[in-house]
Amino acid sequence: MNCSKTEKAGGLTARSRQGIRETLSRLHNDIEARLRVIRDSHNDWLCRMGCDTCCRQLADMPRFSAEEWKLLQDGLATLSQEQLQKIEENIAASTGQPGTNFVCPLLDRSAGACMVYSFRPVVCRTYGFYVRRGKGVYCNKIESCVDEGFLAGVIWGNHDAIDQRLNSLGETRELSDWFAERKK
Ligand code: SF4
Repeated sequence: MNCSKTEKAGGLTARSRQGIRETLSRLHNDIEARLRVIRDSHNDWLCRMGCDTCCRQLADMPRFSAEEWKLLQDGLATLSQEQLQKIEENIAASTGQPGTNFVCPLLDRSAGACMVYSFRPVVCRTYGFYVRRGKGVYCNKIESCVDEGFLAGVIWGNHDAIDQRLNSLGETRELSDWFAERKK
């Protein structure tokens, strides 16, 4: 029986999975292009290797779609058993503490770097470079620069448009929920 068009996994047809994959890939490319423009015009942009402020001040556990989780798992596959164990411990320590400033479980705290940087979700890619409903999606360091007028020429990315595109990727779950699924 040829069921290639109707075969489902996780409730999605192969065709719609492909569409979601392409949407995410285009999103990444568009975000990267926006970041490049901003960085090219500001060589000393604050968001760079060595600054992990935003990863240390999360309001909530990172939340993202299944396709982003799939990509993130590719990143997890590059980590050692010790690193994975550490992530699990970090998740356990931060679960159940919503609304508090907690450190992202995927941050290598001693190196001050994301353990899965190339595989990180969209929410992390846009942070520091976008504006949502007129409000900056960035940390208080950038906010200070904005307030002091140092970044007047920046053409910020439009996070409302990103949100719309993210919606088309389907339901989102918290990192801790995706991680728990991984163990089943
Ligand atoms: S996934 Fe990586 S970039 Fe995103 S908050 Fe966590 S450590 Fe930071």
